[in-house]
Parts: sequence; C-alpha cells; structure tokens
Amino acid sequence: MAQAGGNPRSDGDSQQPSIFKVVLLGSSSVGKSSLALRFLKNDFREILPTLGCAFFTHMMEVDGKALKLELWDTAGQEKYHSVCHLYFRGANAALLVYDIAKKDTFHRAQNWWKELENEFQPEEIVVILVGNKMDLEDSREVTFEEGKTFSESNKLLFMETSAKLNYQVTEAFTAIARELLQREEQHGG
Ligand code: GDP
Repeated sequence: MAQAGGNPRSDGDSQQPSIFKVVLLGSSSVGKSSLALRFLKNDFREILPTLGCAFFTHMMEVDGKALKLELWDTAGQEKYHSVCHLYFRGANAALLVYDIAKKDTFHRAQNWWKELENEFQPEEIVVILVGNKMDLEDSREVTFEEGKTFSESNKLLFMETSAKLNYQVTEAFTAIARELLQREEQHGG
C-alpha cells in the first residue's frame, strides 16, 4: 500500500536539495515532540504545549550535501490507529521511539515496526530505533542490548538518546539523513 516511500522529492531543479519525509512513531509520552524540539530549536520543556501543527521542515547539511527534512509528529494521534496509513504515506524515514524506562513502549515500538514492514519494502524506508530518556538510568527497564539486538536482527539503525540532556539527538537525525543520501546516491537520485 505504500505510495511514494523511498522517493525523495525535488522541485525539478537538480540544484535544489532533496526533500525527505520523516515520521516520528511511538507510544504517547516517549518524547517524540521533545526530540523534534531539541533537534529543531535546541530546547527542552518538562511540559510541552499542545502543538497546533505537527509538521516541521528543517534544512541540514551532511557530508557537504544539503537536504531538507519534513518532520511529521503524531501530536497525540498515535491513539487513533486509523490515521496510521495516511500518516505513513510517502514517508522516506521513520524514528521509532520508545522510553528506556517503560518496557511496554519498547514492545509498542516493535509493533510499529511490524506495521512499517507491512507497508514498505525494506529499501523504501530508513528506520532508526530510538531509546529515549536514557538520562533515567535508575529506572531503566529496557537494556541497551535489547534495543541493539532488536535493531540488528531487523536491520534498523539504533541509538539511545536524551532529549532532556541533548544527548545523541542531532546524531540520530544525522544518521537518518546520511543513510537517506547514501540510498539516493545508490539509486542514481
Ligand atoms: P510525545 O508524546 O512522545 O511527543 O512525548 P513528549 O515529547 O510530549 O514528552 C513527554 C514527557 O517526557 C514530557 O514531560 C517531556 O518533558 C519528557 N521527556 C521527553 N524527553 C525526555 C528525556 O530525554 N528525558 C526525560 N527525563 N524526560 C523526557
């Protein structure tokens, strides 16, 4: 059912950077909006305002190449399962986020992965599994190894992050961007 996954858009001018749609997926309160806020504005809030808009664009440069990321945040919509297919449509990449201090969110992330697998061919989408809130080490319920093992067996990128401490947030988005550019190059984009 995937429509345009794996095909970055450009404005028809080869000088223009490619545009990639990146969706943020995961249970409620795992820190999806916080990761976006940290990445886009280098800011963190204990209480996030309800976002009127769940769509952001961000220009970045990786290895000397410019690209534009369109970030889609569910903004609470993850509760409504029926929106998923529209939300996924045309995605080039996904951040699959869980909270390292909540085991159930790790299981939910695994379920999101199954849904992505049903929607996309592996070469159509870049997926990074993100264990967020790694500052909550004392309450950790998901080990680093569990995250790593799941990601390796499903060929996903993997990183533990803290939006709060600004740990590995830019790195997670950069890893996605680098992989997207590499795939584009391989396919003659
Ligand atoms: P979302 O529902 O997945 O978008 O989650 P939010 O970004 O709204 O975050 C939910 C709560 O977790 C908020 O109170 C955030 O301040 C908090 N939070 C987000 N990221 C982190 C983190 O890395 N560490 C800690 N300790 N709290 C975080």
